[in-house]
Amino acid sequence: MTKKIIIANWKMNPQTADEALRFVQGILAQRLPKNIELIIAPPFVYLDLLKKNCGKKIKLAAQNISWAERGAYTGEISGLMLKNLGCDYVIIGHSERRHIMGETEEIINLKLKAALKVGLTVILAIGEKEQNDDILKILSQQIKSALEGVNVSEISHLIIAYEPVWAIGTGLADTSDNALSAALLIRKIISRLYGQEWASDLPILYGGSVSENNAADFIAQNGINGALVGGASLELQSFIKIIKAAEKNE
Ligand code: PEP
Repeated sequence: MTKKIIIANWKMNPQTADEALRFVQGILAQRLPKNIELIIAPPFVYLDLLKKNCGKKIKLAAQNISWAERGAYTGEISGLMLKNLGCDYVIIGHSERRHIMGETEEIINLKLKAALKVGLTVILAIGEKEQNDDILKILSQQIKSALEGVNVSEISHLIIAYEPVWAIGTGLADTSDNALSAALLIRKIISRLYGQEWASDLPILYGGSVSENNAADFIAQNGINGALVGGASLELQSFIKIIKAAEKNE
């Protein structure tokens, strides 16, 4: 697998549709590297606008999904609604949803299965809270509970984003060597659950204070398939530099 995946997680930004549109137009005005899958995860309210303006160069991810299929769930958005809008991906298990919104492992598992059921590719975010945490234990437990009841045929619709919580939004990125070790660990865990072949095909990204200065280090690692970018994905020139960092691997 040679394509590198770059995901922009805009979180609860920007505040106007105009800004969202201008940002995307700014990206589309660039010559984008051919070897990347570029994905933007905007707030729900901009998905339709971006779908109509992104063409084929930018794919869309939702930042959340309901575990329920339809019905009396005020405020929720179903997988089928996302799919029908032209969304291809959904982020599940992001640390802000785990730790601020209180999403449990059980909810993450239900959401993941709801997404796979409608044909969305899941970007499953996992990661330890503190720098000295036992990452083998934490990542194993997060992966096993998120994937409980998911069979091998569904694994091809999965991307794992290794995002140490201590690195998210802090400006303190992990080193690319540590991120690579974590990615190898994740492949080992997936290999034990689903077999070596699936584990080696699984895209694994790094996320946590990726910037224009460090993106190339993560993207250049063979065992890391790209980056999930938060803060730096909101600043057009920085994000363009991050995208172009992937070009050097062409
Ligand atoms: C994120 O939100 O997933 C993230 C990695 O944020 P940041 O790049 O700002 O650390």
